[in-house]
Amino acid sequence: MNMVPAYLGGTAALATEATVGEAPVERDPILIPGDETLAEGEIRVSILGSGLPWVTKSQAAGSVLVEVGNPERDVFVFDLGAGSLANFSGLKVPVTSLTKVFFSHLHADHIADYLTLMGSYVKSGRLDPVEVWGGSSDDPARGLTAFVEAIDRAMAWDFGTLLGYTPTSGAKAIPTEVPYDRAEVVYERNGVTITSFPVIHVLSGAVGYRIDYAGQSVVFSGDTMPAKTLIEAAQGCDLLIHETFLPAETFAELMTFPIEKARMVVNDAHTPPDAAGIVFSHVKPKMAAMWHTHVIDGYIEPVFDTLRTTYSGPATLCQDLTVFNVTPQAVEARQATVSPVQQAVVGESKNEFILDDPLPPPAWWKEAQLDWQAELPG
Ligand SMILES: [Zn+2]
Ligand SMILES: [Zn+2]
Repeated sequence: MNMVPAYLGGTAALATEATVGEAPVERDPILIPGDETLAEGEIRVSILGSGLPWVTKSQAAGSVLVEVGNPERDVFVFDLGAGSLANFSGLKVPVTSLTKVFFSHLHADHIADYLTLMGSYVKSGRLDPVEVWGGSSDDPARGLTAFVEAIDRAMAWDFGTLLGYTPTSGAKAIPTEVPYDRAEVVYERNGVTITSFPVIHVLSGAVGYRIDYAGQSVVFSGDTMPAKTLIEAAQGCDLLIHETFLPAETFAELMTFPIEKARMVVNDAHTPPDAAGIVFSHVKPKMAAMWHTHVIDGYIEPVFDTLRTTYSGPATLCQDLTVFNVTPQAVEARQATVSPVQQAVVGESKNEFILDDPLPPPAWWKEAQLDWQAELPG
């Protein structure tokens, strides 16, 4: 298997076996964005952020993109950690298609690029509002709706700059809370069903999601300790993306944390590789994917070795831009190669281009503004 991470030039996914089943078409292990269209009945999953709260050049913070091959070619994003939208741009998926956001929970490493989505992608041309799903909480102040409304207020200055220049229809967010204490179907449109289920992560309000389309299913754990609610919700799924932290001892060494703190982080809030293996063994997905893991040369093999003490099925360690093609015939793990200078692709919106009136400029600007054009040479 490939053990060379993408940041060291590796071009294939870090997988024990890259293809589980009989692939319906022959695909290169490298995905070049824009070169492939989704087949009807296919789900394509792209990891926009595979990393930790302490974002690095090699790993954006948590985010998973899901595209489905329905006639509408619907696009969903699960979490939006810092740096994830840079990877999104690289994939050349239109900005205007990214209007359905599902948050697993509201830790900073899963939400930071929400501001980019709301404030910046509206400026790149999105005219449609963004729908946002996320956990309710036993304290409503910590629920998804309170979060969306607070960000909306916090963006008042940015919003004000749109007036007269950019239609504000695309700056609107529509929140929907999902139950924090039970599994429920929370989305059902165009042949896609999304079910949320509660997971166990620090406070009430953390959830995972199951996406079902055309007989294929993908489950995303969000952040969680090993949970029976997830095992139940994930039964029969094709791809299970489960958070996996380095073992506490390794985590302590890498982060220079005291071991007590590392144990608390890894074992009381997250899932180390051997525990992830036990979850995978209960679920038996076609492909098991470890995600939210430090992917660092020298630490990759030990992660698989630890996983192998409890799980013997096919497994992938997610990096940024690891891509899964999920079809009735197979689950394939690949790695996308993107241009680091690829700009966001805009695409079509449904809403019309309507401008509001601009806010008046402050009176003192008239005097202070430098007439630089008058000073141009020639
Ligand atoms: Zn978290
Ligand atoms: Zn996290």
